[in-house]
Amino acid sequence: MRNKLTDNNTLKSVLRKKDFYTKKGLGQNFLINEQVARKIVESPQISSEDIVVEIGPGAGSLTQYLVEKNPHVLAVEIDKKAIPLLRENVQQFGFLSIVEGDILKIDLEESIKSHFGDFEKKIKVIANLPYYITTPILMLLLEKYDFIESITVMVQKEVGERMIAEAGTKAYGALTLAINYYTECVPICSVDSQSFYPAPKVDSMVLKMNIRQQKLLSKEVEKIFFQLVRCGFNQRRKTLSNSLLPFFMGDKEETRAFLKSLNIDEKRRGETLKMTEYIQMANVAWREF
Ligand code: SAM
Repeated sequence: MRNKLTDNNTLKSVLRKKDFYTKKGLGQNFLINEQVARKIVESPQISSEDIVVEIGPGAGSLTQYLVEKNPHVLAVEIDKKAIPLLRENVQQFGFLSIVEGDILKIDLEESIKSHFGDFEKKIKVIANLPYYITTPILMLLLEKYDFIESITVMVQKEVGERMIAEAGTKAYGALTLAINYYTECVPICSVDSQSFYPAPKVDSMVLKMNIRQQKLLSKEVEKIFFQLVRCGFNQRRKTLSNSLLPFFMGDKEETRAFLKSLNIDEKRRGETLKMTEYIQMANVAWREF
């Protein structure tokens, strides 16, 4: 019978036995809520045909439910002291390959190939992400890899709210647009801070991102889209005729003409524009300016 790592006392005794102390600097807040762990693992509808990458498995709180689904699991963990925990508590109960490394530095495609060979079916990613590098990890996965089908993640609640914010709200920003551009993102559940050991100061949220299989823009226009988004949010209080100035090399007349040609009021702020409007601006900027 395996240890249920989502049980607080069991987890603590497993950690103690291995002389393992959680590291704040690595964002180590381990999940001790079985219901939430099962929800995360259920969301991507995993089958035995799937390759699933788990980022930051820690002691294996999520991993233990993941391997029950019988997919090929590759767990990438930066903390070498967590590896024996995974071996002892998870690996002997299911199919699990472990990579000791930094998800921001390893070549994920090569790691998958070296463990499972060439793969054609897109992979699924799950993670209870270390909060201190949530955005860099998400952006890396979305920008660099084109073989991902979905990403199911636990993030700090405030970040989750930014990922699904509506235009014009305080939470709406460059992150919202990037997530929206690459994925269709849906919230799965809220998670209170007591669902972790040690408990963090903030609550969390689980979201699932289905990666858009058709890119919304060509590579060239995409670059412009993100330049415009950066301008639109760099100084949130500025009106568009000012915030877009850097894109037009400081040419006020050209900035105004551009907005006029799109029927967008120059007095609006970047934070009020929906993604479709940024896309429209990028297309016109590419064609005509
Ligand atoms: N998945 C476990 C759970 O749900 O209990 C642990 C989640 S904990 C919030 C984040 C995990 O990510 C830790 O195990 C930490 O060591 C690991 N981690 C932190 N930075 C990492 C990185 N750059 N690459 C891979 N893993 C990382």
